[in-house]
Amino acid sequence: MIHENLESWPAGIIKTKHRERMLFVLKNAAKPLSAMEIWAEIKKNNPPSSLSTVYRSLEQFIKKGVITKLTIMNHELAVYELTRSQHKHYAVCWGCQKMFPMEYCPVEQSLPEMIGDGFQVKGHNLEIYGYCRECSQQ
Ligand SMILES: [Zn+2]
Ligand SMILES: [Zn+2]
Repeated sequence: MIHENLESWPAGIIKTKHRERMLFVLKNAAKPLSAMEIWAEIKKNNPPSSLSTVYRSLEQFIKKGVITKLTIMNHELAVYELTRSQHKHYAVCWGCQKMFPMEYCPVEQSLPEMIGDGFQVKGHNLEIYGYCRECSQQ
């Protein structure tokens, strides 16, 4: 098994096999994953862990800014991805729940001027939803 370490382990988080695997899985995922999907991947290569352990670890990584949590409107499921300098937004299909990555972030350029007053923007969410080609033809 190829095991890729992160360049540096985030400070303040205890390193465990599960957590290492969690970051590895997210790093190599083509799309954001739900906690269940992450859990399923971890279980393949490691001794059993519980889903609540996965959630607890995710919360720790989120607090450190290592992982970003995305919640999708009208959809109870939260998905997770590694925080990247080049972040991505996704359009979500209401029919099949597939996520379609957007080419670029439309918010980033215009946001600072819109707020003004020295407000420091540290992040944003953008929710785009509708029906994909396949679902809109049904
Ligand atoms: Zn669809
Ligand atoms: Zn953005």
